[in-house]
Amino acid sequence: MTLYKYIEKNPEYFREYNKMYYQNNVEYYKAYAKKYNKNNADKIKEYKSQKMTCECGKTFNITNKIQHQKTKIHEKLIEKLNNINIV
Ligand SMILES: [Zn+2]
Repeated sequence: MTLYKYIEKNPEYFREYNKMYYQNNVEYYKAYAKKYNKNNADKIKEYKSQKMTCECGKTFNITNKIQHQKTKIHEKLIEKLNNINIV
């Protein structure tokens, strides 16, 4: 049996295993994330301050992309664009 098949047949086991593994190593992950953030503070800051322009024409902060896509303004503008494309 391949590992993939085994996982497929025993999803609960693997879910528990992953949870346990994570819990046992949570301090390690936390320390790693902290270290990573510290070492890459400038890069992260730079990334987060990036602006991007949506297909609807609005400009927003890259970290707000998902939030923006859920807004009514975005929906309306996309709807408008789609209508223009049809005509
Ligand atoms: Zn948009």
